Amino acid sequence: MSDMALVVVGAAGRMGQALIRAIAETPGVKLSGAVERAGSSMLGRDAGELAGTGANGVAIGDDPLPAFAKADGVLDFTTPASSALFAGYAAQARIVHVVGTTGVGPEDEAKIAAAARHATIVKSGNMSLGVNLLAALVEQAARALPADAFDIEILEMHHRHKVDAPSGTALLLGRAAAEGRGVKLDDAAVRVRDGHTGPRPEGAIGFATLRGGSVVGDHQVVIAGPGERIVLSHIAEDRAIFARGAVRAALWAREKKPGLYSMRDVLGLA
Ligand code: NAD
Repeated sequence: MSDMALVVVGAAGRMGQALIRAIAETPGVKLSGAVERAGSSMLGRDAGELAGTGANGVAIGDDPLPAFAKADGVLDFTTPASSALFAGYAAQARIVHVVGTTGVGPEDEAKIAAAARHATIVKSGNMSLGVNLLAALVEQAARALPADAFDIEILEMHHRHKVDAPSGTALLLGRAAAEGRGVKLDDAAVRVRDGHTGPRPEGAIGFATLRGGSVVGDHQVVIAGPGERIVLSHIAEDRAIFARGAVRAALWAREKKPGLYSMRDVLGLA
């Protein structure tokens, strides 16, 4: 089979550049297009040169349609509204769409789900092997430990430029905990605490958000019981772990029917 041709949207972003490097180091894939938003100062630049892999002849453009038309898949770590739009284009082109964008609201989520009738979409708030394994462990722990005795709190820290909170990964871990307890995260989540909050509601899944510096992503799930605490954690040291996961997801999805898949499907942890 020929190399899988991949387009990176958001090519000049932190993750976009990590994706271009991951494609360059992975056999079986090639970069066929690089797209940025209209008006970006990076338009026209060589994508490989920008990402530090050496010039590769792929110029960054602002029109996704011709790029999608000649590709087998799209790697997308951009913004929620852009990812919803790109899902529609990927469906029209009948290609794979790997979505790493976080902070996606219900409306854009619905558009992505609708596009998955024709596109093979893998969407995850965290594409790393370690975090997806952690989610499986959190689900198991939440199932084993009774909610009336053990409280679950999720703590995360990210770099100062991050725009959404709690992180997509914190929410992914929260959903895993809720799944283990047989409840819906929306019903159990306490996303913010401030002022006279009253005591902790039984069964709540709490979140705490820290922002600062250049932190790539730290997550801790604390399960606090009477006289003991279990702490499950993950530390991301390099964005390359998400980028490699995204490339792996694209290769996995190439052979799959249209639908909405998660990274746990890709890694066989579902
Ligand atoms: P960033 O701001 O550095 O990069 C985003 C890029 O997308 C920018 O260059 C921006 O110009 C571009 N962009 C925005 N709209 C566009 C459009 N319509 N067309 C083309 N390009 C467009 O941000 P980042 O740190 O790279 O993170 C991007 C997203 O990925 C965030 O939502 C972040 O939370 C998420 N993320 C997910 C994972 C994961 O594993 N799922 C890991 C890290 C980051």
